[in-house]
Amino acid sequence: MKVAVVGVAGRMGRALVRLLDTHPILELSAAVARPGSSAVGRDAGELAGLTDTGVSIVDSLADAVQATDLVIDFSTPEATMETLRLCLADSRPVVIGTTGFTQPDLDTLNSAAGQLPIVLAPNMSVAVNLTFKLVEIAAKALGDEVDVEVIEAHHRHKVDAPSGTAVRMGEILADTLGRNLEQDAVYGRQGQTGPRERKTIGFSTIRGGEIIGEHTVMFAGAGERLELTHRAQSRDSFVEGALRAAMFVADKHEQKQVGLFDMQDVLGLR
Ligand code: NAD
Repeated sequence: MKVAVVGVAGRMGRALVRLLDTHPILELSAAVARPGSSAVGRDAGELAGLTDTGVSIVDSLADAVQATDLVIDFSTPEATMETLRLCLADSRPVVIGTTGFTQPDLDTLNSAAGQLPIVLAPNMSVAVNLTFKLVEIAAKALGDEVDVEVIEAHHRHKVDAPSGTAVRMGEILADTLGRNLEQDAVYGRQGQTGPRERKTIGFSTIRGGEIIGEHTVMFAGAGERLELTHRAQSRDSFVEGALRAAMFVADKHEQKQVGLFDMQDVLGLR
């Protein structure tokens, strides 16, 4: 099955090229970088630290989408919205790992999912998605007896905060605890904040060095505290999940099923 990778010159794009190289079913067919990128014209494998794959990096998204069975996109929200437009035009299923979408972007994604199978997940790691389930179970059991805080840490190059994964954890907490994330979220604290209100959902963000991604959900009660922590040790965990999502979305497309799916669907955790 032919796969086009959008954002191929990025950290995730290069990791995808490396793991696709040994995948038994999925095969890199097109590698798309940002127009003007110095990667254009280079071999995708060579850029990813492999020997040549024979796939040259291009900047023409339209040609790449036409020549593939499915698209995996880890780029920027603007680039992903263009990918989505072309996937709709050519009816290609798509796996989206990009984070940082605006509400209008998400509305567009939702309506595109009326015509295409799409997997959208801010974190494709299998263990992170299991953590989402554990957060839900813990919130259900502990309810309003505890204060909930989400703490995340990422590398210095990350441009959005809190991470999409942290936001998703906040959404799960809000849904499970019957709260409204828009009203109850507190993003960092400084100065005379007054005592903590139980209904708030706190977010703390750390940026530094080359931290791949760490998330903790803290349930702090009277006399005890539960922390659920996930630490990514390599980008391969995200790529493994993205390749599982690609197989899932291809299968949905073959069965002529459409919809907006996430990793809970891909992993059968729903
Ligand atoms: P990165 O900055 O290393 O890579 C993004 C790449 O996209 C860059 O090379 C950039 O030039 C390229 N790009 C920009 N516009 C483009 C265009 N029009 N066409 C093609 N390529 C274009 O970032 P990264 O660490 O690889 O992460 C990429 C995205 O994936 C971010 O939004 C990040 O938050 C997200 N991410 C998601 C997961 C997950 O599991 N879902 C995991 C890691 C990162």
